[in-house]
Amino acid sequence: MYTINQVRGLLNSQSPFLEYPGVRRPYIYVGSCPCCGDERYILKCCRSIWCPICNLKLAGKTYHQMQYINSEIPKKYIRQFVTLTFRNTALITKHFFRQYRNIFVKKFLRKKPFKKTVIGGFYSFDWTINQWYRDHTFNIHIHLLWFSRSFYHPDFLSRKWSEASGDSQIVDIRLVKNIDKALYEVQKYIQASKSILACEEKRRTELINAVQGIRRFSKFGQAYKVKIPKTKATCDQCNEFYIYEREPLHTEQFSVPEYPKVEYQYPLAVNF
Ligand SMILES: [Zn+2]
Ligand SMILES: [Zn+2]
Repeated sequence: MYTINQVRGLLNSQSPFLEYPGVRRPYIYVGSCPCCGDERYILKCCRSIWCPICNLKLAGKTYHQMQYINSEIPKKYIRQFVTLTFRNTALITKHFFRQYRNIFVKKFLRKKPFKKTVIGGFYSFDWTINQWYRDHTFNIHIHLLWFSRSFYHPDFLSRKWSEASGDSQIVDIRLVKNIDKALYEVQKYIQASKSILACEEKRRTELINAVQGIRRFSKFGQAYKVKIPKTKATCDQCNEFYIYEREPLHTEQFSVPEYPKVEYQYPLAVNF
């Protein structure tokens, strides 16, 4: 549910990726408060991560969910931001992600001492493209925010990660000072289209196919168990539920008057 300005902002966020197969044009349901007539909008789209609109929607939603979960986890658990890096690879394939998830979950997270001390958290797979080699290589890594009973020294963590991964000891661990920033880092991978654009054009399709359908974000432990309440939006003024039109408007029908391009900043307000 968005305000008119948020809808315009999302529609203005168009990029070449809107032309990617599977990415459809969005449409809009208009809702109004039966009491005061205030209008709100639901923007339905393709749910493709390559679509700039759905991309922003997904990022906002994930972010707010994480914020809610964080507020439900007792303060006594230490919030730490961890990065675990895999060895550089020449390719990205679905097989890699499966293998890496296995390494991370089975050989690291469920092993001593983390099994007993880390009560839950969020993680995402992200990658960067190393441009300085003649042939690009990929650096796949995990961003992880965990709730833990104790703090680990980077050297210890590095040793444990090296044992789990078999060939990589590069890690980073830090205490979270700004929780919003840490949550943002975990869901940053959603801006996938940006990292794809950084790739040579001829390799883009290959890369998109490789990561299509891969689950890149997960919650685990206590973070997974937190129930996120579904709230139906009501009008702030009258506390009445919005009533939505049965027929959606296509965005072409939806008049978007001349409006300055909106630079989106996180957190994007989303009701879910
Ligand atoms: Zn109202
Ligand atoms: Zn879309």
